[in-house]
Amino acid sequence: MAGSMLSRISHGQQQPAARENWAGNITYSTDRVYSPASIDEVRDVVTKCEKLRAVGSRHSFNTIADSDANQVSLQHLNQIDIDDHARTVTVGAGIKYGQLAPVIDGRGYALHNLASLPHISVAGAIATATHGSGLHNGNLATAVSGLEIVTADGKMLTLSRAKDGDQFLGAVVHLGALGVLTRVTLNLLPTYQVAQSVYRDLSFDHLKDHFEDIFGAGYSVSLFTDWQNHRATQVWIKRRITAGTQDNWALDFYGAKLATEKMHPIEGHSAEACTDQQGIPGPWYERLPHFKMNFTPSSGRELQTEYLVPRDHAYEAILAVEKLRDQITPHLFVTELRTIAADELWMSTAYRRPSLAIHFTWKPEWPEVRQILPQIEGQLAPFGPRPHWGKLFTVPPAQIQGQYGRLAEFKTLVGRVDPGAKFRNRFLSTNLYS
Ligand SMILES: Cc1cc2nc3c(=O)[nH]c(=O)nc-3n(C[C@H](O)[C@H](O)[C@H](O)COP(=O)(O)OP(=O)(O)OC[C@H]3O[C@@H](n4cnc5c(N)ncnc54)[C@H](O)[C@@H]3O)c2cc1C
Repeated sequence: MAGSMLSRISHGQQQPAARENWAGNITYSTDRVYSPASIDEVRDVVTKCEKLRAVGSRHSFNTIADSDANQVSLQHLNQIDIDDHARTVTVGAGIKYGQLAPVIDGRGYALHNLASLPHISVAGAIATATHGSGLHNGNLATAVSGLEIVTADGKMLTLSRAKDGDQFLGAVVHLGALGVLTRVTLNLLPTYQVAQSVYRDLSFDHLKDHFEDIFGAGYSVSLFTDWQNHRATQVWIKRRITAGTQDNWALDFYGAKLATEKMHPIEGHSAEACTDQQGIPGPWYERLPHFKMNFTPSSGRELQTEYLVPRDHAYEAILAVEKLRDQITPHLFVTELRTIAADELWMSTAYRRPSLAIHFTWKPEWPEVRQILPQIEGQLAPFGPRPHWGKLFTVPPAQIQGQYGRLAEFKTLVGRVDPGAKFRNRFLSTNLYS
């Protein structure tokens, strides 16, 4: 699932060696990593490197952030500037949502959504169209209203939604291809409270006629399943509420029963690391993620895969994957189903498509998972799946390219700001250019 589904989350656990990604399934191909402390230093690094790739908080499961030459980390660029007049916050691109959320909340603001864990960087999240859930919630990149990018020649490119129209829409889900993002401006909402409750055992049959009702039962709704018994094992409903009020939660939700104790998405795991449930209200940033901010995920002994399909075909897509349940379940920790609103960002997995995301948190069994992915992709092929840019997939490049109607324009944009392909790595060469 999206957040680390495993309860091996604790303080003080060892982080993976710095040259691996968070999950430890990718070892980066270079040990040359620059960590500039200012924008001028970023420009120096960009100017002096012939090949370069920015790296965020290393949470992607594939080689999208890899380089066999040089990487640059913006972890020291994490300043926060709130503009009360514009209702925006401009952040250093290396900041993590977990650092940002309490600060803006303290000033009376919120973001429209969060991913399932707060430890990812803003620049890295928007690069891959990272999303939460909610019928009407766009992915995290849809909150972006401005970008500052150091391009291949060391110059600063500033883009804003208000002034740069199409070019801006092409640049937000950037895949690390345009240069090094130094600052990102995000739209703010007034802060809000959320309460969440969990229901157990929802038959998939109800999704046929009530998909929108079920996923619309809260501001953000997630279904979890192990794919057995034609049912979601859990339904997590997160509702926005008026501060000071208590929401009523029916005991029955389409036949699913209100949980009477706090649940972990993987049945039987300790729920200690999970955000409060049972309808207890709390600030947006302590309810929208499934896992608490102050629990640091350890190195992940898990793999993740996710496909976005058009919501019009959500039920058929779920049934198509379900056919593989007996191959999937033995290697799976859990699947999460979420919804994402359509957007206009060229390389977004939800570009012009209200989407259902079918996510798999796998056991760390890559040889077996590697065999299953093409089968799942085959089942989903009729629906035009768009694999999450930061997770594991085996979809042939031509099929991926066919899913992005603005790809040619994106490449033109990239070619303009990076004519020598300084920021192009093997992942991009394979998936976008082969
Ligand atoms: C436990 C876990 C839970 C997750 N939950 C979710 C979830 O709920 N929803 C979801 O959609 N995804 C989820 N993901 C996937 C994750 O959000 C994405 O892989 C995201 O891109 C990771 O961001 P990062 O900061 O770690 O970036 P990295 O993985 O380090 O890099 C990702 C991309 O961003 C680029 N990049 C990073 N910083 C910059 C910069 N300053 N300038 C230019 N390019 C840059 C890199 O070049 C690369 O292309 C999860 C991953 C994990 C490990």
